[in-house]
Amino acid sequence: MATWDYFIFWKEAKDQLKNELSEQEFTMWFNMEYDSSQESIIVLAVPSAFFKDQVKQKYQLRIEQKLFELSGQHLAVDFCIKELKNRQSAANDTENQKNSVPVQKVSVKQMQAEQASHVSQHPLMRSDYTFDTFVVGDNNSFAYNAGLAIASNPGKTYNPFLIYGGVGLGKTHLMEAVGNAVHKNSIGKKKIIYVTAENFTNEFIESIRDKKQSEFKKKYRYADVLLIDDIHFLQKKIETQEELFHTFNTLYDANKQIMFTCDRPISELKDISERLRSRFERGLSVDLLPPNYETRCAILNKKLEEKKVSLPQNVIDLIAKNIQSNVRDLEGSLTKLLAYTDITKKIITLEIAQQQLRDVLGSSKQGTFSIETIQKIVADSFAMSYMDLKSKKRTRSIAFPRQIAMYIVHEMTEFSFTEIGLEFGGRDHSTVMHSCNKIQNDIQTDSSLDTRIQNLIRQIKDVKNKS
Ligand code: ADP
Ligand code: MG
Repeated sequence: MATWDYFIFWKEAKDQLKNELSEQEFTMWFNMEYDSSQESIIVLAVPSAFFKDQVKQKYQLRIEQKLFELSGQHLAVDFCIKELKNRQSAANDTENQKNSVPVQKVSVKQMQAEQASHVSQHPLMRSDYTFDTFVVGDNNSFAYNAGLAIASNPGKTYNPFLIYGGVGLGKTHLMEAVGNAVHKNSIGKKKIIYVTAENFTNEFIESIRDKKQSEFKKKYRYADVLLIDDIHFLQKKIETQEELFHTFNTLYDANKQIMFTCDRPISELKDISERLRSRFERGLSVDLLPPNYETRCAILNKKLEEKKVSLPQNVIDLIAKNIQSNVRDLEGSLTKLLAYTDITKKIITLEIAQQQLRDVLGSSKQGTFSIETIQKIVADSFAMSYMDLKSKKRTRSIAFPRQIAMYIVHEMTEFSFTEIGLEFGGRDHSTVMHSCNKIQNDIQTDSSLDTRIQNLIRQIKDVKNKS
């Protein structure tokens, strides 16, 4: 070969790659020109450093493999940055390449704009429910990371994916984050359906009424990603369960991603057919727990940042300390205070915040929760007797749950250390204070303890709400 001219190999490699890649991808990234050859090297000209990084990462190996297949030699590809403005673009390396496909010249900016314009917001999901706007803490990092993995590889990693947990903990947010990410990554090409179990049920019923069952089936069974929110709603809905069972099987067999949320673990669902239950339980299920104090502060700060406003630290503290088990309420408090400044033009102080939020804050304080309820729930969770928890016994297996119970009483009520001591076998206030401080410190380093306590607090609130 005369003085290393590998042009012909490049041309053939590019033609073949054109057939192997999508048109979009080819147009987007094969805006490169043959520049020159050196011994065992082909130099391709690209329009910018950004472009170079991208194509190196995405296609260098692939091009080199192709060149090897065609030439039987290990030809390396190198890139140089050149202004391609005056030349023909991508597929037109020389004027006499009649067979090559004309491709419009696309600058990096144009390419990015083009990509963005392809990805208009998905109509069924909220644009602000993304991974970026989701604050990660110990309570949700597993669910968050699993969601990320699924979003980058739908149908191939964890299928189905189930997120369960109490209200306002971010289940819908994470589910839509997965949907929005797949929508964006696939440049809108994947068919993503987000639906609440309630709407799924209603649509199904309407489809029977209107004799449009085949349309209903088509809609759901051709999805690439099916997101069904709040499946606890399906309890007792026998026909809808049946339909979902078949939808599930079709999608699952076709390696399509399915995701569910539920307000409780699947094992606790009632009136769900066994075969559907077994489908729900097939893949990965992860629970979302209430956020700990640090995460609550981080969420509040993130929301303030998004709204481009600020609040004094002691106000953030007040909210984060008092609203413990529901992120939606955390946000609600913030919204209320911001509306207050907006309307009155007054700066929020701790006093104003306390006054404005007294309904929410008050509900978790004295009068609402009895020490007895707390003691019973804690004792129950440690499978010990309530009387032991209140006793003077000092064995560790009793003392530790007792310390936790004291801590929770202190957190959830306005009782003084002395009053609390009286309810725990007549202990004095310094013992109670020591217990509370100890647990407070332990939580900082032991996230599972923190989680356990947050769960207990949630249970205690649940009991209260139901009574
Ligand atoms: P669920 O579906 O579990 O009831 P949502 O997903 O509706 O809860 O969340 C309630 C609100 O709290 C939403 O506005 C959501 O954006 C917000 N939220 C929940 N968890 C987080 C988090 N970790 N970071 C940021 N916002 C959150
Ligand atoms: Mg929800």
